[in-house]
Amino acid sequence: MARLVILGAGVAGHTAALHARRMLGSSDEVLVVSPNSNWNWIPSNIWVGVGKMPVEKVIFPLAPVYRKKKIGFHQALALSIHPEGGEKHQRGYVVAKSTQPGSEDREEEIEYDFLINATGPKLNFAATEGLGPDSNSLSVCTAAHATETAKQLQAAIARLQAGENLRFIVGVGHGTCTCEGAAFEYTFNLDFALREAGVRDKAEVVYLTNEAQLGDFGVGGLVFTQQGYQTTSKIWTESFFRERDIHAVLGAHCTKVEPGMVHYEQLDGTTHDLSFDFAMLLPPFRGADLKAYDREGQDISDKIFNPAGFLKVDANYQAGAYENWRAADWPKTYQSPLYDNLFAAGIAFAPPHQISQPRTSPNGTVITPAPPRTGMPSGMIAKAVVETIVDRVKGNGKPAHEAPMTRIGAACVASAGMSFLGGSAASMTMNPIVPDWEAFPTTGRDLKGTSGEIGLAGHWMKHLLHVLFLYKAKAHPLWWVIPE
Ligand SMILES: Cc1cc2nc3c(=O)[nH]c(=O)nc-3n(C[C@H](O)[C@H](O)[C@H](O)COP(=O)(O)OP(=O)(O)OC[C@H]3O[C@@H](n4cnc5c(N)ncnc54)[C@H](O)[C@@H]3O)c2cc1C
Repeated sequence: MARLVILGAGVAGHTAALHARRMLGSSDEVLVVSPNSNWNWIPSNIWVGVGKMPVEKVIFPLAPVYRKKKIGFHQALALSIHPEGGEKHQRGYVVAKSTQPGSEDREEEIEYDFLINATGPKLNFAATEGLGPDSNSLSVCTAAHATETAKQLQAAIARLQAGENLRFIVGVGHGTCTCEGAAFEYTFNLDFALREAGVRDKAEVVYLTNEAQLGDFGVGGLVFTQQGYQTTSKIWTESFFRERDIHAVLGAHCTKVEPGMVHYEQLDGTTHDLSFDFAMLLPPFRGADLKAYDREGQDISDKIFNPAGFLKVDANYQAGAYENWRAADWPKTYQSPLYDNLFAAGIAFAPPHQISQPRTSPNGTVITPAPPRTGMPSGMIAKAVVETIVDRVKGNGKPAHEAPMTRIGAACVASAGMSFLGGSAASMTMNPIVPDWEAFPTTGRDLKGTSGEIGLAGHWMKHLLHVLFLYKAKAHPLWWVIPE
């Protein structure tokens, strides 16, 4: 009998828990430790954030699903990992603090045979003074943030309808943010909502981004074929913004957000202030604030995690300068090099380096998108890690399963408007996510799986994904047939 403990019940952790329960024997235990009682389909928070979807449609309670599937659930925040066990524990264990109403702050020690860290991102609003929903800007990163943002948008639209002219800023709140795709999607939805309300002419929409050029999306941009010609995501996105009269501020690091005012530095070292009436700025991410200790209680956090708090796995972290970066640096099995029963899945793993070219302003400020680890790779990595663990539990001696982001593709569908015929979407696919210049010397990616398209097809696809992924996450019959 083995016990698998999974930290985090987001895209990666929940996927891992469901697959592990399906693949492991009934005498093996699967146990999830996560602080929130609800699961959230985060991509659809964008629609919640413009008031197009009620929040109940993007969340559901986890406990009944875990009860039904016989998965243990500790509603708790993991604080530390003890991979070598300790005085009272022969096996590795995790210390977690309960977040369950009624027993808040109660600490427990949970032993494991295998541990998956799927704690995703810590939303690091604190990195920029005044950033975030507790301060001076809005967010759509959680369902609650998105609900508040929708409320503020409605209030802004009412002011526009009353005849005021307002400035909307959408983008990222720090030079090292990731998730530019989500900021782009919110911009598209905002533009759509303002047009629908008949007030677009009264609104100035500004896209504030750390990308050095439009269409970078933290993946160094894309080249794809459109109607027989090769084009770039830069041209594609610029045209998209021009058509919608959206002004872009590029290569920007937000230094401070005050009520109604953003301060930022740009890649050329100049500093600027921009006033706003509505600002939705995504935060930079760091790893969950987990600590790690050896058997003697010595702090080994800096051996297990990188400085940003992400778990180091089987990647090449010594690649050095940008010119040396190779697809082969990226992890394949997501196993810790120090402990073979410790894995990371989703955003929790430490990438070896950025995907976009690193850039610094003359003042030494790093202004470069961090590498995105979107939903599809997060789910695929989680499944591969579980397959490795299942093989080990069953003792069949197979090599570890692999899911490198240099072989996984991703789709980014920015969809606006909710009606069947009235909406539209900007859809991009890339294959692989991390360019492999040795396999694809011309563009770094396979042109067959890399595309950009604007129209209704992507809009319907996004709706379909919403329905399918919620069906899957609720573990309804045959859920596992739906791919990650
Ligand atoms: C607004 C927005 C829109 C997006 N749109 C898309 C999209 O269209 N397509 C796409 O592919 N991706 C999209 N993404 C990215 C996608 O949401 C992430 O890639 C995905 O959620 C990552 O999965 P994860 O499991 O690593 O992290 P998460 O899904 O964030 O899950 C992390 C889990 O860990 C838990 N946790 C945190 N700390 C601890 C701790 N100390 N102990 C235990 N548990 C902990 C959290 O509560 C959560 O349950 C979007 C992201 C945002 C913010």
